[in-house]
Amino acid sequence: MSPSSTVAPVVCLGCGCGCDDLSISVSGGRIVDLAPPCPLARAWFGDGTVPAAILRASQPATLDAALADAADVLAAARGRVLVVLAPDISTQAQQAALTLADVLLAAVDTATSEPAAAGLLAAQRRGRAAATLGEIRNRADVLLFWGVDPTPRYPRYVSRYAIEPVGTHVPAGRAGRTVISVAIGADRGPAEADVTITLAPDDEVAALSVMRAAAMGNTLGELPAALAPVAEAATRLVNARYAVVVHDAEPGNEPRRDPYRAEGLIALAQALNGPTRAALSSLRAGGNRSGAEAVLTWQTGYPMAVTYRYGAPRYTPASRGIGWAVAGGAAAILVVGAAASLGSTLTDVAGRTPVVVVGPRATEAPFPARVAIDTGVAGIHEGGTAYRMDDVPLPLRPPLPGQRSAAETVSALLTAVRARGTRP
Ligand code: SF4
Repeated sequence: MSPSSTVAPVVCLGCGCGCDDLSISVSGGRIVDLAPPCPLARAWFGDGTVPAAILRASQPATLDAALADAADVLAAARGRVLVVLAPDISTQAQQAALTLADVLLAAVDTATSEPAAAGLLAAQRRGRAAATLGEIRNRADVLLFWGVDPTPRYPRYVSRYAIEPVGTHVPAGRAGRTVISVAIGADRGPAEADVTITLAPDDEVAALSVMRAAAMGNTLGELPAALAPVAEAATRLVNARYAVVVHDAEPGNEPRRDPYRAEGLIALAQALNGPTRAALSSLRAGGNRSGAEAVLTWQTGYPMAVTYRYGAPRYTPASRGIGWAVAGGAAAILVVGAAASLGSTLTDVAGRTPVVVVGPRATEAPFPARVAIDTGVAGIHEGGTAYRMDDVPLPLRPPLPGQRSAAETVSALLTAVRARGTRP
């Protein structure tokens, strides 16, 4: 049994907060404790054990045989391949996967493109007034939580960045901040808010329009009773030294949210930058999901839904890759990252299209895979870089190195595909 040790500071990718202050206790090759306490971090790190198998047609295989089979499948489908960037891999693995997609003339999508698409597209139309989490911590004196209580899905956002901490321009900490919670249907805000407003889902876009109009200094006239409180909230935001609007950029599919929520919030944050300073804080899940968009953007110019099929990157937001594959367009699929994040999305298509999976727990993918190669998890077993929800890159310090590297495995697959002469 290997000796006990503590690794610190460690970056946690359990959610998009990317807390970089964790101490991880390791004993006997397993994670036995972590601090400071965070329930989501405990669940994400677990004891650090992951499978290290390789399967080809559901049978154990050597790495060379699996890579050769995967390369044959992908090279034969060149021009009709879908590459999916799934979570829990480093930016370096994402970059290698995109190089492979280029060679294969593949379509590329991310595991998060569906829930995050509304915000990404609205930001492309309007621009986005954003801020780093450090800026929010140090400056925000009025915070508006729009249909989100961060604590369940982003447990330390409130204590580390938003409501509670002492900031350089908010020396009184919590006492120096005004917190406004807007509940919309089942989407509740933080319980510790100073002001709570409840909206019916049908009033949401109208409420955002009223707040934007107030922020722009327009005369509002008489408002319906349901919307009067948001006009008052807008006045508090306008009078802030630094206002922050917080929303969940990946709220999930149920209950169904108004598709114009993200656009309305982006427009509100921009309007607030007339009378004061303001930013929109978009909460994102972990596993370096934001990194997939960052790598896609710096490599192709677009954050999702890119295809190399025409020899150069082309943006196809109206027909995203996973939908294209499900509709029968793909002749082969490569998933790089944690396949479990895709749920049943690929179950049907995987029954008729060969799927190659390289990533953490690949051999436990929730759909049939022609080739599955287990790797370590970025941040637990593999180093490199990952992006926080505010697009700040963080160097990873894995507390349990030694598992197969996703970045190196994808690079080896790239070499094997190139050896098949697919590039003119
Ligand atoms: S808040 Fe998120 S990033 Fe921070 S420790 Fe908890 S799970 Fe990890």
